[in-house]
Amino acid sequence: MLLSQQKPLEEILRSLEGELKVFILGCSGCAEASGTGGKAQVLEMKGKLEGAGKKITGHTVVDFLCQKALIQSRLRGKAREVKEADSLLVLTCGVGVQAVAAVSGKITHPGCNTLSLGGMRGEWQGSERCQECGDCVLDYTGGICPLTACSKSLLNGACGGTTKEGKCEVDAEMECGWKLIYERLEKQGKLDKLRQMYDAKDHSKMIPPKGLRLSDRWALEQGK
Ligand code: SF4
Ligand code: SF4
Repeated sequence: MLLSQQKPLEEILRSLEGELKVFILGCSGCAEASGTGGKAQVLEMKGKLEGAGKKITGHTVVDFLCQKALIQSRLRGKAREVKEADSLLVLTCGVGVQAVAAVSGKITHPGCNTLSLGGMRGEWQGSERCQECGDCVLDYTGGICPLTACSKSLLNGACGGTTKEGKCEVDAEMECGWKLIYERLEKQGKLDKLRQMYDAKDHSKMIPPKGLRLSDRWALEQGK
């Protein structure tokens, strides 16, 4: 199970700057269990964003946002509302946000940070992975995680070793993650996002909060 925590509203509103119309997605898997992206939280977020002057073109909750086939079939029925939106706000873990961004092709904002439960990471069919870093940066990277798509987990662009064919210098079998990020942002007209510079990742955010280490969910992940 992936644990998520909603980002502060100010951060979400900052990510939506310049965008009026928003479509909200939630997940009734891990995000609902985390109390961050179930139906109740989606409706709550709708109210907050409307209060901040945004127009919500629609919203939906998908059983598992890490499953691209489920996202595809649900968004098909919401095609008009999704098309009308300037962007999507996704209330779930980093895997779900990446899956939505890949399926929709639209500008996709993470509404949550994914935290570690200290146990095994889930396995799912798609290629998207999340390191549960506790401070999701997908807003700046076109919905592709630099920590997992880049062999060196670089946060500020490519290492310079990308091959002419666009492959990673560490693993010739894989596409350079930063090439994919660049292409995604270019397609979205959002290359300016690359101006954001990051300090080294704060690894203390990857440590499960103390309260969580006393919870049943923590014990379950640890197999205790
Ligand atoms: S930036 Fe990557 S590792 Fe961190 S929460 Fe987002 S998807 Fe997960
Ligand atoms: S070639 Fe690309 S994916 Fe590989 S380490 Fe360098 S930036 Fe990361």
